[in-house]
Amino acid sequence: MEVLYIVVPCYNEQEVLPETTKRLLEKLNTLIAKEKISADSRILYVDDGSKDKTWELIAKAHAEDVHVAGLKLSRNRGHQNALLAGLMTAKSLCDICISMDADLQDDIEAIDAMLEKHRQGCDIVYGVRSSRKKDTFFKRNSALAFYRFMKALGVEMVDNHAEYRLMSRRALEGLASFPEVNLFLRGIVPLIGFPSGTVEYERGERFAGETKYPLKKMLGFAFDGITSFSVKPIRFVFSMGILLFLVSIAVLIYSLVVKLLGHTVTGWTTVMISIWMIGGIQLLCLGVIGEYIGKIYQEVKHRPAYIIEAFLNDPVE
Ligand code: UDP
Ligand code: MG
Repeated sequence: MEVLYIVVPCYNEQEVLPETTKRLLEKLNTLIAKEKISADSRILYVDDGSKDKTWELIAKAHAEDVHVAGLKLSRNRGHQNALLAGLMTAKSLCDICISMDADLQDDIEAIDAMLEKHRQGCDIVYGVRSSRKKDTFFKRNSALAFYRFMKALGVEMVDNHAEYRLMSRRALEGLASFPEVNLFLRGIVPLIGFPSGTVEYERGERFAGETKYPLKKMLGFAFDGITSFSVKPIRFVFSMGILLFLVSIAVLIYSLVVKLLGHTVTGWTTVMISIWMIGGIQLLCLGVIGEYIGKIYQEVKHRPAYIIEAFLNDPVE
C-alpha cells in the first residue's frame, strides 16, 4: 500500500493547529482503516520559523501520535520555501504527498477524490477552487487578474489552484531536478509533466487566526511570480522608469495642447516630448533588464532555499 504524506506549511498557526491536527488525523485514520493508504502515512508539519507556540504544538502532536511528523526551519523563509522543504523531505519517505494550507481553507474531504484520481493514473492532481465566494471581493479579483497576466506572459498555470495538490513520488523527483532558487511552485509544477488531473473543491474560510498573506506580501508574491525575485535598487529604477514614463505622457499631452494653442516656438514640442518620452522608456527598459540581471545574480549565488533545524518523525515499524 502506498505511503501518503500530507505536507502542511505553518507560520504562526497556533490558533488553528489543534483543530487541523484533529481533522487531518481523523481523515488519515479513516483512509488507513479503509486500506486506501499505508499505516506508515504521516501528516508532515513544516514550521516556517514561527514566533508563537506552533513548534511546541507540533512537537506535542508528534509525541501523542506517530502519524504526526514535524520539520522545523531555521527561520521564516516564506510559504513557497517552507512547502518545498516539506516536499523534499517527504520525497524519500512517501509514495504520494498532498500539500495543503494549515488554516483548513482547503477542503479535507477532497483528499479522497485526489487519491482516486491518482489511482486512475494521475501523477499530479490539482485542487481547484470551484468558487471563491468566501474570499473578499478584492482577493478574488486581484487573483483573477494575476492568473490572466501570468497566462498572457506565457506562464502555464492552473486557474484557481493554490498549493492544494497531490504529487506522486516521481513527480516530486521531477520537482527536485529543478535547480532554481527563485521558486514559484505554481508555475513550475505544470512543467514537470506526467499525467495530471484536477479535483474541484469549495474553498472555505480561514478556521482561525489571521491571514499570513497581507496585501504587501501578496503583491510581493505576485511580483516574484512574474520575474522570480530581484534586487531592491534595481526595482527602484524600474518604479522610477514607470513614473517617468507616466510623466512623459502628461508632458506629451501638455506640449501638444500648448502647441495647438500656438504659444510655442517652432521645435519646442518635439524636443520636449522626445526628452521625456525617451528618458522614460529608457529607464523602464533598464528596469526590466535589471530585473532579470537581479534574478541571475540570485541564481548564481545558489543560496539554499531553506535550512532545516529539526526533524521529528518516527521510523516506520
Ligand atoms: N505560510 C508559511 N510561511 C509564511 C506565510 C504563510 O508557511 O511566511 C503558510 C501559512 O501558515 C498557511 C499557508 O502558508 O498554512 C497559507 O497562508 P494563509 O492561509 O495565511 O494565506 P491565504 O489563504 O490568506 O492566502
Ligand atoms: Mg489561508
